Amino acid sequence: MLERVQPLPAESVDIEAALGRVLVEDATSSVDLPPFDSSAMDGFALRSADTPGQLPVVHRIPAGAPAPRSLEPGEAMGIATGAAVPEGADAVIPFEYVVEHDNTLEIDEPVQAGANVRPSGGDVGAGETIARSGARLGARHLAAFAAAGIPQVQVAQRPRAAVVVTGSELRQPGEPLGPGQIYEANGVLLEAQLTSAGAEVDRTSAVVDEEAAHREALGRGLQADVLVTSGGVSVGPHDLVRGVLAELGVEEVFWGVSVKPGKPISFGVAGNRLVFGLPGNPVSVLVGFELFARPALLALQGSDDPGPRFERGLLGARLSRNPARDELVRARVQSKREGPVVEPLAGRESHMIARAASADALVLIPRGTGDLSAGQAVEFLRI
Ligand code: AMP
Ligand code: MG
Repeated sequence: MLERVQPLPAESVDIEAALGRVLVEDATSSVDLPPFDSSAMDGFALRSADTPGQLPVVHRIPAGAPAPRSLEPGEAMGIATGAAVPEGADAVIPFEYVVEHDNTLEIDEPVQAGANVRPSGGDVGAGETIARSGARLGARHLAAFAAAGIPQVQVAQRPRAAVVVTGSELRQPGEPLGPGQIYEANGVLLEAQLTSAGAEVDRTSAVVDEEAAHREALGRGLQADVLVTSGGVSVGPHDLVRGVLAELGVEEVFWGVSVKPGKPISFGVAGNRLVFGLPGNPVSVLVGFELFARPALLALQGSDDPGPRFERGLLGARLSRNPARDELVRARVQSKREGPVVEPLAGRESHMIARAASADALVLIPRGTGDLSAGQAVEFLRI
């Protein structure tokens, strides 16, 4: 699937708008950071060679206003945290460690050269890399860019994603339910998942299980970079999605995965556009998106680590295995001394979305016979 992904073109964005975006070129500092030797403490700048001793305080340096002259031998200057250490000084002694009277310091102990001085470029030098191409930007990156004087960064364009949910039985929450009808849950689920994966989402109301309606909605959805559908990809007479996608020119790359839930997932391409056909049951959508669509969306944006990023933990309770399919079971992760322990939640069926609400992870139960016992090492995916 990842081999079929063609990364999107780049654009330049203000760092304020870069949260969650993926860098497509290394970001380098525009300045030495700190830009000058600065004081790490409120205290006095001095020459270490003059300590111990008595030193007159000849000036006081606030942050933002460097001393008008250099520090001569035998002198001290008051200095604020973040203020520029004056020419001639090589150390700062904090207020707490000196006695000052009549503008003179009494220093009893020798002060080490370099003490409490944050050297220029000690964090990063001008031109050095702060974040590499392929990194997905979090708050910490944005702060680093700001500190390094970088107003804009080159990131991948946001994928445009379309969501098409299918099913004649579906109603919007807030409407009354008629006989045989259920509330539509996948649209809001997919919109949230796609948004968190960096996409701009276009979503319309549920499509009835008729070919003409499918043709219209899927045709429109194929204008996006990524089309994600729900329902109608299984083998029933009302499962129309794959047939209509084929008619619309989508090349199906695979249909059917040995994963529970989510067996009838389909993946196709139309030129550079990606199409995910997810089954209708909401837990199948939840799981199928995390395993397949999210990594593809991140790869589309040039991520160097599209995932899914499984972690290791210990299973909290015995679980039976499925002989034919790898199963992802909703679970809660607890931090224990022995490491993360994943407690599977009751109810493994794919329509049970209400029970999934309290899960914060999916634990991977590899296919096989017999049970996995409590305490066994497992992999899990945080959701
Ligand atoms: P399907 O894959 O279309 O056969 O749907 C499988 C099951 O998921 C059926 O019970 C559907 O009623 C249900 N379902 C399909 N789409 C949705 C949806 N958008 N929200 C909630 N349930 C759905
Ligand atoms: Mg259906």
